[in-house]
Amino acid sequence: MNSRQASPSPCDICGATQTLSLTIHNIRYRAHTCRYCTNCVLKQHPGLFCPLCFELHDDSPLPPHHRLMCVRCPAVAHRSCAFPSTNVSAAPAPAPPFFCPSCLDSNFTYFKLPDRKSGAVDVQSAKVLVTAARIAAVSMSKAAAAARYDAERRAREAAVARKRAKDALEHLAEILAREQAEQDEEDINEQNGIVSAGRRRGA
Ligand SMILES: [Zn+2]
Ligand SMILES: [Zn+2]
Ligand SMILES: [Zn+2]
Repeated sequence: MNSRQASPSPCDICGATQTLSLTIHNIRYRAHTCRYCTNCVLKQHPGLFCPLCFELHDDSPLPPHHRLMCVRCPAVAHRSCAFPSTNVSAAPAPAPPFFCPSCLDSNFTYFKLPDRKSGAVDVQSAKVLVTAARIAAVSMSKAAAAARYDAERRAREAAVARKRAKDALEHLAEILAREQAEQDEEDINEQNGIVSAGRRRGA
């Protein structure tokens, strides 16, 4: 086996390399295709998932009394995850200030490498991997859709440009034909004029 091929480029942020347990994801971030490890995917997208249960927030935003925003970063947690005992369907009580795990501890890592001896990944890290993979997949399919949209737009623009060129050519042909017709008419008139003038002269 080619060992060079087996070691793809490391995480663009932390430099971690892909191992059996650590995945490096291809991800679209700010119009660039990047390679981020599971941990960096989550750290770069704090607003997309609950930092406590790692569920992705879907496109419909959580109702205000179900969500809890981190005081320091764009992270949004489920209120029920931060305060499991509170009844979210009841009238919302003012929430105490919330700090996401990453803001509470700068050394916090979402993904924990598996136990060296057992090789077992804990439940949290397994969930984190799923979330990171989903974020990467959504970003890549959005990029593909954008590229498709771009290609379609360019195809439409090319079609418009072709139509414009065709119209211009037809217009030119019309003008030339009209000029030719006018010229022909003039020639005929001139000939007739000469003829009639000749007749007049002759008469
Ligand atoms: Zn990383
Ligand atoms: Zn949650
Ligand atoms: Zn935070």
